[in-house]
Amino acid sequence: MELVGHCRLCKAAVYCRDGFLDGVTENQALYCHACFDALKPDTDGPDKPESDRQNASRPPSAD
Ligand SMILES: [Zn+2]
Repeated sequence: MELVGHCRLCKAAVYCRDGFLDGVTENQALYCHACFDALKPDTDGPDKPESDRQNASRPPSAD
């Protein structure tokens, strides 16, 4: 394992194992996986049914 650097957020050591970086570099900053996951906006969650949102239009109430 080769030390690549330290996570910008938690200062954990980030290594390169077998040619694979055990972390993430973004905008020339280095993050560990945990911190990078925390940074990401949750775009595609594992279970978020988008079809659930198609019933947004309600019928007008007769007032
Ligand atoms: Zn970190």
